[in-house]
Amino acid sequence: MQTKRKPKHPMAMYYLLVLGILLVLNIFVLPWISSQRVVKVDYGTFMKMTDEKDIGLVEVQSNQILFTDKEQTQVYKTGRMEDEGLVDRLYAAGAVFSSEIVEQASPFLTFLISWLVPIIIFMALGSYMRRKLNDKENGGNAMMFGGNMFGGNMFGGLGKSNAKVYVKSSDGIHFSDVAGEDEAKENLQEIVSYLHNPKKYQEIGASMPKGVLLVGPPGTGKTMLAKAVAGEANVPFFSMSGSEFVEMFVGMGASKVRDLFSQAKEKAPCIVFIDEIDAIGKKRDGQLSTNDEREQTLNQRLTEMDGFEGNNGVVILAATNRPESLDPALTRPGRFDRRVPVELPDLKGREEILKVHAKKIKIGDNVDFAKVARMAAGASGAELANIVNEAALRAVRDGRKFATKADLEESIEVVIAGYQKKNAILTTKEKLIVSYHEIGHALVAAMQTNSAPVTKITIIPRTSGALGYTMQVDEGNHYLMTKEELENKIATLTGGRAAEEIEFGYVTTGASNDIEQATKLARSMITRYGMSDNFDMVALETVTNQYLGGDTSLACSAETQSEIDRKVVELVRTQHEKAKKILTENKAKLDELAQHLYEKETITGEEFMQILGQ
Ligand code: ADP
Ligand code: ZN
Repeated sequence: MQTKRKPKHPMAMYYLLVLGILLVLNIFVLPWISSQRVVKVDYGTFMKMTDEKDIGLVEVQSNQILFTDKEQTQVYKTGRMEDEGLVDRLYAAGAVFSSEIVEQASPFLTFLISWLVPIIIFMALGSYMRRKLNDKENGGNAMMFGGNMFGGNMFGGLGKSNAKVYVKSSDGIHFSDVAGEDEAKENLQEIVSYLHNPKKYQEIGASMPKGVLLVGPPGTGKTMLAKAVAGEANVPFFSMSGSEFVEMFVGMGASKVRDLFSQAKEKAPCIVFIDEIDAIGKKRDGQLSTNDEREQTLNQRLTEMDGFEGNNGVVILAATNRPESLDPALTRPGRFDRRVPVELPDLKGREEILKVHAKKIKIGDNVDFAKVARMAAGASGAELANIVNEAALRAVRDGRKFATKADLEESIEVVIAGYQKKNAILTTKEKLIVSYHEIGHALVAAMQTNSAPVTKITIIPRTSGALGYTMQVDEGNHYLMTKEELENKIATLTGGRAAEEIEFGYVTTGASNDIEQATKLARSMITRYGMSDNFDMVALETVTNQYLGGDTSLACSAETQSEIDRKVVELVRTQHEKAKKILTENKAKLDELAQHLYEKETITGEEFMQILGQ
């Protein structure tokens, strides 16, 4: 995960605060203190003091008289009265006429207030802020504070690393928070034990892998696992995203790396986590040259880092979802030589992840997590966390005190298909077409063997653009698929369009997504799974990024390409014909079910099977 904050914010806060305090001092406190110095007296007292010759300086102003006692230790002030002969009397009393009496505190006090006090406040605040920031860091939140507040480096983080430090956070993440991923945890357990007691390893002469690469699709808990290692070993956790290294100017990245590692070494044993390491460790293969030079330098720096030499208790964990794009120099022994796969969770993993996150919300106890996990086939940990949260949000929206089973099931559909589009208006005709289309999918699926059971059919439009959909949920895990199963899947995908053709005699745009999926499947069968007679076991396509959508690139001659295209069309056409055949043979059921769906808009798998079985 990538978070980035600049220390600008706290610094600005700090300056604002000091400015505010200075203003308050000057506007309110100083005048107040000065006025304290002047004592207000009545005219009688003034006359009396004059008579007693206890008078020093006098200044007669237009509406008041300022004067001091003989010793000039105290300034007095009184209102001015019509008083004949006042000046003579004052003269007689030995007063000195002056225009210098200012209603002012002693110069010393003024100096104290206008200079010393602000400086003291300035410093006290500064150290307080710093302490607070440090506390935050301990809590696992804030960034390292770049420079010294006073003098030193006022511009905080410029050129300094933004590495976030998590020092022995008590609220740290542990392995128990990471559900599933047992293999990864087992693998990382060794690192934990090393960090607990590096001596044990040093004595034998064993050296820990200095870098461990966590490889897997986004949102599978790589960051979490890295934090958990730090949490389990109770050591500081430094984290930085690879893209942060390259964000600024040339050379800046290298300085950041240096900085990060010098910080880390001070705190060893510790964990340094670099997310998205592919951003800095790209293969130097001359493609896309714009950023390459910079990345090379950084890559070079990174591999040269002292952190990579010696058994110094700094363990570097890095995450990537493009392992194939990493420079081999980075993955050679002595660098990131250990690779821990963090794959998408299987059925059991999904169930556990759901349970872990469900603990954080209030949820009814009738929820069948296994079922939800089955529905969420292919979801990552992050998506599952999102599903649980969506359920809680939905419960709040509907004014419930806790999330129910229905909330959870609806939120899966939200994550898969988007929110229900309440105000999308379909014409009756369109609604009927969508009903036939969806029942077409479901019926073809149900009439074939080895096809996942239909669990829900709906024609309520979704924000994703789907006008309806048919949900099929596999029982249990599915690691392998036979050729027949794949063919059936293609037939099911073509079932929607087939139903439209049979019932209405014309076709609509509604099948675009089906077409896309069917084509992709058919293509993979031929180019990657060796499921066609012509090409035997020859790979005609290679997957370029396995974890990010699985783009492929062709690796064959032009003639073979057109041959592949022909084969793909043939395969899809055969299945499309099969689907049409199934639907024609069951036309009565198709009509009945479509009518039922049209009226009810959503039907469950059981309802569907019941009508089908009648
Ligand atoms: P990655 O670094 O692999 O992209 P993260 O570690 O950032 O993924 O995970 C994102 C979020 O997904 C986590 O904060 C957590 O809520 C959830 N998550 C992912 N995998 C798991 C898991 N195995 N167990 C529990 N929660 C998970
Ligand atoms: Zn469809």
